[in-house]
Amino acid sequence: DVTKTRGTEFEDYYLKRELLMGIFEAGFERPSPIQEESIPIALSGRDILARAKNGTGKTAAFVIPSLEKADTKKNKIQTLILVPTRELALQTSQVCKNLGKHMNAKVMVTTGGTTLRDDILRLNDPVHIVVGTPGRVLDLAGKGVANFSECMTFVMDEADKLLSPEFTPIIEQLLSYFPKNRQISLYSATFPLIVKAFMDKHLNKPYEINLMDELTLRGITQYYAFVDESQKVHCLNTLFSKLQINQSIIFCNSTNRVELLAKKITELGYSCFYSHAKMLQSHRNRVFHNFRNGVCRNLVCSDLLTRGIDIQAVNVVVNFDFPKNAETYLHRIGRSGRFGHRGLAISFISWADRFNLYRIENELGTEIQPIPSSIDPSLY
Ligand code: ADP
Ligand code: MG
Repeated sequence: DVTKTRGTEFEDYYLKRELLMGIFEAGFERPSPIQEESIPIALSGRDILARAKNGTGKTAAFVIPSLEKADTKKNKIQTLILVPTRELALQTSQVCKNLGKHMNAKVMVTTGGTTLRDDILRLNDPVHIVVGTPGRVLDLAGKGVANFSECMTFVMDEADKLLSPEFTPIIEQLLSYFPKNRQISLYSATFPLIVKAFMDKHLNKPYEINLMDELTLRGITQYYAFVDESQKVHCLNTLFSKLQINQSIIFCNSTNRVELLAKKITELGYSCFYSHAKMLQSHRNRVFHNFRNGVCRNLVCSDLLTRGIDIQAVNVVVNFDFPKNAETYLHRIGRSGRFGHRGLAISFISWADRFNLYRIENELGTEIQPIPSSIDPSLY
């Protein structure tokens, strides 16, 4: 069971009372394994490389120590939590605010797609923890609006994404605004080799946590169906009528296809939202917020909002278009089966996808089975 721990209690970390209250009010009874491993190390200030499956509580693993370390008497930014997408920034800052709700630590979220002027105004007031996306945070640091000269904690969530070639130059530049002896912590479910160069250059004897081996994709039953492109909508319709869907996320490989499919699903009489990179950020936020609140049962999207997103009510994920690589597959289907809940992942495989199916199955060392004619409801 992914939620099973070695019996450590949150009380064992001697956290501030106000923080402990926030943790318990959030409904956390005891630390998850990744929290158990990383909280004491994070508190010690040592660099961390932490790898754990989706939905096992990585966010709180770095948020709790960040809140604990916040000296609210000091009017300085003390922690930066960097994430790759705006949706994830909002979600993560919400976790900070929630766990820290009895504390005086001030959390600020900053992402592209909002006006810089608002951020400048907000930074006139004390801010202890900044949660943001790379471009905007660098902008604030570069303009001297945000001061990271005493920021000792630098967390990167979905770190491999942040250290992909598009972001690395930004991260490197950002680091130059930090003190020399700052702590860097990297969290992700996937760590391709690309991360290694950065680690060797910037991390100081990082404490490595790897909770992947036994955990990958547990709780998620994976099926595939060979479906001709022209039959995909029909197939989805059949799934909708047969499955007991709590909430579902349906992935397409392009923004065009997202919109087209959402339209067809609505025509079939199912409630459905969609989201993709070409939509206005404010609109994306609203869709996401409403979906999370259960306003709508199905969400069609491209890969943009998949990373790290945590919506526990999602019990079915459909790859309407099959992803091109194993990492994308892992992050997509990790949207179901959060924190020990069960989930179903169903992939439509066109003729052109068939080799990808076998390759991804091999790469992940997982089993993707042909979809049976009836699916046991206890699996999701
Ligand atoms: P990850 O980043 O590893 O994918 P998240 O941080 O998004 O996972 O957490 C997944 C879910 O688990 C969240 O809904 C969170 O509230 C819940 N959770 C985290 N830690 C605990 C805990 N110690 N006890 C109970 N639930 C937890
Ligand atoms: Mg996460």
